[in-house]
Amino acid sequence: MEFDFENRILDPEETPEDFEVENPLRPRTLAEYVGQDKVKENLSVFIKAAKIRKEPLDHVLLYGPPGLGKTTLSGIIANEMNVNFKITSGPAIEKSGDLAAILTNLNEGDVLFIDEIHRLPRAVEEILYPAMEDFSIDIITGKGQMATSYHLSLPRFTLVGATTRAGQLSAPLRDRFGVVLRLEMYSSQELAKIIRRSATILGINIDNEGAIEIASRSRGTPRIANRLLRRVRDFALVQNREEIDFSTARVALDKLEIDELGLDANDRRMLKAMIEFYNGGPVGVETLAAAIGEESVTIEDIYEPYLMQIGFISRTPRGRVTNRAAYLHLGLEPVE
Ligand code: ADP
Repeated sequence: MEFDFENRILDPEETPEDFEVENPLRPRTLAEYVGQDKVKENLSVFIKAAKIRKEPLDHVLLYGPPGLGKTTLSGIIANEMNVNFKITSGPAIEKSGDLAAILTNLNEGDVLFIDEIHRLPRAVEEILYPAMEDFSIDIITGKGQMATSYHLSLPRFTLVGATTRAGQLSAPLRDRFGVVLRLEMYSSQELAKIIRRSATILGINIDNEGAIEIASRSRGTPRIANRLLRRVRDFALVQNREEIDFSTARVALDKLEIDELGLDANDRRMLKAMIEFYNGGPVGVETLAAAIGEESVTIEDIYEPYLMQIGFISRTPRGRVTNRAAYLHLGLEPVE
């Protein structure tokens, strides 16, 4: 059996395969959504209050690394508010007219989800300001002296924006969100709960130890946990195992070259480059990207969040540095 996902298996970004299989796995209510207790607690108060006031929920900004459940949470918001849910993304809206068309088609109270909102073109973003603030837009048609401006009122809607980088959002856009919530990486216990829930939906038998083993190698990310569950299931199937237990999970994950901390060959390559070429750093992200032949955004969005979470690298004003734990994990002598 060939696993052509090997290189991408730990990529927290959505792949076409995920898109197909993720929908049935998405929780539909806050109660079903595992972890993120602070976020859930706050949201449930805001949702209840909005319902009592019979008003749409304030605009919500969700931020955090990919695969942590931002899209899922915005669907839950729409579901809990009993309104329609429309999905789009920053790069998909090229012209102001595209956004105007989306906005004028909304119904009162609807949730409009804009993924990767930091990638909205500037001109489009400017249409969003009055839309968010006053529920209106000004559309200009024609050019020069023939130009005419129309003022359109919009239904009162809720914008839910998601971004991996809150820092890249312009201040005027950020200021227009009444609720700003940061999603955290999940603990292994929480991921194991998600894995067991997904296994039930997909009709996979897995015991507690098997779930924990997959969870502890999923780098704090539900999307990766769900993907590893599917890959381990393939191994179990080929080996005629009825149930995924600790040893089935361990053997499969070892074959996929995902180590016990959830690092794959790419992470190890980056850490080794930092240590061997730059004596552990500090090294700038652009320099590092060139050295390992990756895009710097990939390093910043995919590799770094987890490596920082587990304390393997730190950001300093002069660049990234590798910490002692990274040396030890790679079996190298730390430099003092
Ligand atoms: P993001 O939008 O942040 O990239 P998604 O919302 O698309 O992430 O979530 C990715 C996958 O992980 C989905 O299949 C979803 O079902 C699952 N997932 C995310 N968060 C949770 C959670 N808190 N509980 C259960 N499943 C989750």
